[in-house]
Amino acid sequence: MDKTGIIKPVLDANYPMISHGKGIYLYDENGKRYIDGSSGAVTANIGHGVDEIADAMHEQAMQVAFVYRSHFTSLPAEKLAKKLARITPGDLNWTFFVNSGSEATETALKVAIQYFQEQGIHTKTKILSRWTSYHGITLGALSMSGHHKRRERFSALLEDFPAAPAPYCYQCPLKNTYPGCGLECAGELERAIEQEGPENIAAFIFEPIIGAAGGAIVPPPGYYEKVKEICDKYQILTIADEVMTGMGRTGKMFAIDHWGIEPDIMTLGKGLSAGYTPMAATVVSDRIINVIRKGSKVVMSGHTFSANPLSAAACCSVMEYMDQQNLVQNAGEQGERLLNGLKELEQKYPFVGNVRGKGLLCGLELVNDAVNHTPFSFIHRVGEKLISICFDKGLIIYPAFGGVTGYEGDSVLISPPLVITSFQVYELIRILDESLKELMNHLV
Ligand code: PLP
Repeated sequence: MDKTGIIKPVLDANYPMISHGKGIYLYDENGKRYIDGSSGAVTANIGHGVDEIADAMHEQAMQVAFVYRSHFTSLPAEKLAKKLARITPGDLNWTFFVNSGSEATETALKVAIQYFQEQGIHTKTKILSRWTSYHGITLGALSMSGHHKRRERFSALLEDFPAAPAPYCYQCPLKNTYPGCGLECAGELERAIEQEGPENIAAFIFEPIIGAAGGAIVPPPGYYEKVKEICDKYQILTIADEVMTGMGRTGKMFAIDHWGIEPDIMTLGKGLSAGYTPMAATVVSDRIINVIRKGSKVVMSGHTFSANPLSAAACCSVMEYMDQQNLVQNAGEQGERLLNGLKELEQKYPFVGNVRGKGLLCGLELVNDAVNHTPFSFIHRVGEKLISICFDKGLIIYPAFGGVTGYEGDSVLISPPLVITSFQVYELIRILDESLKELMNHLV
């Protein structure tokens, strides 16, 4: 065993050494090819090895790679902020650049609290969120995350921000059925607000489509309209966490666009740089910035690498590439093809309980009993088994479990790069089909 080295997700696991990537494919040092069916962690939106991005980064690095945000601004960072203002909904016009989705969540929390403080309201310091959610791994972001497995070790340090049930119709936490339920899950949010006291709550944060904690859970019609109405009623800001769902992933530029809701704050990451560089962003509305401008004039946050020019140049180039290649539209079209293929697998395998998603963010939930939607016991690790079988066959898919009760629930995400072609969607489905067949043999 090596005596030095990087700390891997599982310490002594044998991860293959990556050699290179092109489009939706990754190749390890032994020449084995993998379909990147999850875009890494739902990140490599434009695929691997795009020359234009490398060229843009080279050009910027030759000009200046780094300046500190308190000393200078830079053309690429200014250009990127303007591009984001143009495509984000409503008056989300001001961007605070950070390096990871977790930091974007932390910044959103601080901006929301500061917005009220600048107006002399000092009690609004809580951020409500939902169970079955993931907003990041740092302590503030983890406080907001309704993800048992990631919280439990640090629970003594975390705030109890998750307060509302997830709009998760297939495994409804309230044991209801839509539409007869009258969207009680949104009603529960209102109850939680009243219990905590609206005077104590600054914001409600949500993933428009729940990703890593549950596997592409799409809320039922009317849910977000009701949530927005409730938040407005109690003067609670809305934070759309689009770290996973943003930048075209779901077939619209932002997932919240499917419902036409305009949040007060939006967080972005992952697809913003498509993995070419670490970059994330908190985009803030005019209304909030105007209040801060009239008050202290300083957003109290920041990191050494915030608004890094090299990263910003990469992101501008990624956005231009997405435009040229029409990738948001392709995500919608290929997403439909992918979901149809997954639905055929749902028909074919009794333990594929539910498939769902929008665009190229699809989820597949494995269950012990499809009639009653009963999950497998976690000791069988069925989701992990499927991921491992797929990996062996050259298909990468992503775990989305641990958020529900901590261990049960075997959902996976299938979220290939937005450059995927029809032929490649069929190739992905074929390998998944073979993998499910092999999994079935393990189950019987
Ligand atoms: N928010 C959402 C919705 C995410 O899916 C993630 C990561 O998976 C994060 C925030 C945290 O992002 P990062 O891993 O870049 O810190």
